[in-house]
Amino acid sequence: MKSNYLMYRKFFRNMMIDVLSIVSKPRPGVHILNGHFLSLDNSASPELFHNLLYDLKNAGVGFINFTDAVNRITELNIPTDKCLVAFTWDDGFEECFTKIKPVLDEWNLKAAFFINPNFIDGSNVYKENFKKNVVLTNKNPMTWDMIKQLAAEGHTIGAHTLDHLSLNSTDVDFLKHQIAGSKIRIEEQLNVEVAHFAFPYGQLKYISLTGVDVACSTFSYVYSQDNYRRYFSFNGRVINRRHFECDWPLKHVIYFLKSKSL
Ligand SMILES: [Zn+2]
Repeated sequence: MKSNYLMYRKFFRNMMIDVLSIVSKPRPGVHILNGHFLSLDNSASPELFHNLLYDLKNAGVGFINFTDAVNRITELNIPTDKCLVAFTWDDGFEECFTKIKPVLDEWNLKAAFFINPNFIDGSNVYKENFKKNVVLTNKNPMTWDMIKQLAAEGHTIGAHTLDHLSLNSTDVDFLKHQIAGSKIRIEEQLNVEVAHFAFPYGQLKYISLTGVDVACSTFSYVYSQDNYRRYFSFNGRVINRRHFECDWPLKHVIYFLKSKSL
């Protein structure tokens, strides 16, 4: 019953975006798109993402490296004549390395990957629970070797808490453990400073003001995946990203590349 409801809801949502997107064009500005994987379908080919990039380019979108996008946004260096897009992925699934990175290489693009150390280092029981009950996706995590290679090749590795828990809490010890703990664990592995943090689930309701305080005092840059018509949330302290996935239809991605305000 529930899955039927979800199926219909998805169908009507897609239909609505189809209708609304007929007149959509990518708008000038800087957009950070955040995904999780190539596709829920584990047999999908990287060609999907390549084709999306190709179609976006033909629609007038320009691609920039993640750090360039962050610099432009924080310096308020927002173009008025170009639509610039950068990419990030959350949760650190293996196909970020095996399927998405090869496409990024082909396009000479550097992205960011926000990872959960306990998903990488956890026991099989931990990992199975994480996939089934936390991220609801049957995909394995990248290994530290894969993550080290991404970092060595110029991609940004960011933190996403230790266990991918909601940060809508006022328990400072819990927040510090999850937020600062993930920074320490990644830095131990990479030997470079981790300056970027995306809080799990991305919607603003999944982080408390105390959580924002802890995150912003631990990291130079903190990201949501919400409120995408504005560059910032929480009074300029959190940079907003927009959700997408590599297998979305072109017009659905373009529909979300709207004008933004500061
Ligand atoms: Zn996540």
